[in-house]
Amino acid sequence: MGGTEPSLPDGATRAWIGLGANLGERAAALRQAVQALAALPGTQVLRASSLYRSAPVDAGGPDYLNAVVEIATRLDAHALLAALQTIENGAGRERPYRNAPRTLDLDILLYGDERIATPQLAVPHPRMFERAFVLLPLAELAPARVPPEALRAVAAQAIARCQDSGWVKG
Ligand code: ADP
Ligand code: MG
Repeated sequence: MGGTEPSLPDGATRAWIGLGANLGERAAALRQAVQALAALPGTQVLRASSLYRSAPVDAGGPDYLNAVVEIATRLDAHALLAALQTIENGAGRERPYRNAPRTLDLDILLYGDERIATPQLAVPHPRMFERAFVLLPLAELAPARVPPEALRAVAAQAIARCQDSGWVKG
């Protein structure tokens, strides 16, 4: 993918959301999450990356499926975070310990050009530049925001792009 970013509705902010799942019906969970994002007030899903499969980082458990979607939203960043957590909880997300396997993880990677540091929310996501499973899908949608040296820095991580390009609709 790549190319020109889709135009933005009035009053909306372009944001990129990282999606991950490594428990249960992973692809279905990600697909449902995209539908839930599209149903949020004042929010549209503009584009979705390919689906990726990656080994857990700093944790055990099954492989993850990951993707990134680009949204346009009129929600402010904290309202968006709260909405993402509601979607995660609806997918049966539990948090027994740090980096535990999860049915659904939704992270705000970038919110326009904003830099946010509150107790609840850090944007750009503080660990995104360490993670191939974020940078590769994000680079499909927003190549200008992923410097080549950042991609080189994660090149050794185990990750594969899945073939099913229609995963969102399929
Ligand atoms: P992680 O995604 O880091 O494995 P969680 O999904 O359990 O862990 O999130 C832990 C906390 O991270 C959330 O309660 C949320 O307040 C905080 N957080 C900080 N910045 C962000 C962000 N950019 N996107 C999502 N959550 C964030
Ligand atoms: Mg998270």
